[in-house]
Amino acid sequence: MRLVLLAPPGAGKGTQAELIEQKFRVAHISTGDLLREAVKKGTILGLKAKKYMDKGELVPDEVVIGIIKDKIKELNDFILDGFPRTLEQAKVLDRILDEEGKKLDTVIEIQVPDERLVERAVGRLSCKCGEVYHEIYNPPRTEGICDRCGGKLYKREDDTAETMYSRIKSYKMKTIPLIKYYFQKGILRTVNGDQDIEKVFWEIEKILNKIKKD
Ligand code: ADP
Ligand code: ADP
Ligand code: ZN
Repeated sequence: MRLVLLAPPGAGKGTQAELIEQKFRVAHISTGDLLREAVKKGTILGLKAKKYMDKGELVPDEVVIGIIKDKIKELNDFILDGFPRTLEQAKVLDRILDEEGKKLDTVIEIQVPDERLVERAVGRLSCKCGEVYHEIYNPPRTEGICDRCGGKLYKREDDTAETMYSRIKSYKMKTIPLIKYYFQKGILRTVNGDQDIEKVFWEIEKILNKIKKD
């Protein structure tokens, strides 16, 4: 199964991708996580990416494509979380898949109103294992500790209200055109992300079970 999760920052892409990964055994690829790793390691690519990420702007296409291209080629099945985010990235993704004789099964758009996005991101607690929590909506069993791996939870530097405004603006300007792009290809599905995590997952599961059957 090859899918893309398309949604604004803080909508629940990472949360749902982890649930899909566990239930359907499909690898979760997050460009945000890959970029943060590169920043932490201090690679040239990471240094380049950091100045954009700090401002809540999109990292240039060639940088993101550079870190994700081989992963897409390597894996037969995947969930893409946070990629593509521009039309250029979407076209490159099509080209890579074409070359490999592969196709995307579906693009799931998670819809969440703007005012919710900020409160979700500001209360987000992240773990290096990929698990995400929320101070109010999805707290860990023990404060500050990941339920899954026992790791220490942290707040992302870009999860401030101020950075969120610019991230939401980038989403509107650069990523929203992808909705039409995938709609025209006939593979866009939309779920309501303004409900409990389990309910959102239930909607996604219905879509994925149907794909598995076809
Ligand atoms: P969120 O989970 O809130 O949507 P991400 O972790 O996916 O955030 O991304 C964090 C930051 O990394 C983005 O604000 C952007 O600067 C950069 N980034 C991630 N994916 C991409 C991408 N596909 N294209 C450009 N920039 C990206
Ligand atoms: P994204 O990857 O799209 O930026 P995340 O999955 O990291 O989003 O979720 C952002 C924050 O919102 C996290 O703190 C997460 O626990 C919380 N969250 C995710 N989905 C929901 C939901 N349906 N209801 C309430 N909070 C949610
Ligand atoms: Zn963890």
